[in-house]
Amino acid sequence: MGSVTSTTDHGKPLNMADMSGEAPARIPLEEVFMRMAEELAKRSTCSRNQVGSVITTSDLTQVLGIGYNGNARGLPDACDSTEAGRCGCIHSEANALIKAGAQTPDKLMFITFSPCVMCAKMIVNSNVRRVYYRTPYRDPAGIEVLRQGGVEAYLYDRWRELWRSGIRG
Ligand SMILES: [Zn+2]
Ligand SMILES: [Zn+2]
Repeated sequence: MGSVTSTTDHGKPLNMADMSGEAPARIPLEEVFMRMAEELAKRSTCSRNQVGSVITTSDLTQVLGIGYNGNARGLPDACDSTEAGRCGCIHSEANALIKAGAQTPDKLMFITFSPCVMCAKMIVNSNVRRVYYRTPYRDPAGIEVLRQGGVEAYLYDRWRELWRSGIRG
């Protein structure tokens, strides 16, 4: 558990075995960025679902892009249509990827839901190395696409209730 919280080890990828043990004393940066994605989801103007995304460097020291689902800048803050599948909103992941770009390798991505197939394909092509998702989307096909494309995908929900209050929660 030390490697998750130690400041000297942030360049190392999170050892997922660390998630199966006891919770660390301090909130891990991964949890911090996942909560940031949850806050961003609240800004979504989509009537169907609210999703937030954060993309960081592999050492978790820089946020490269943020996103939530909604209409394009300057357009009405609403879906184009109430018809299923035609709401027209840009997906949260796409909005974050546009900002983060593809050039930085080994990016980490934090998403409040597992991605759809099309977003998963964009994630694969954007040099994201690992995706953490809070809640599995009902269709797991996007997760399968990530794995086929060589992107690690992890359900990250084990510590969502911890460190919520007080300095030492
Ligand atoms: Zn929408
Ligand atoms: Zn999507």
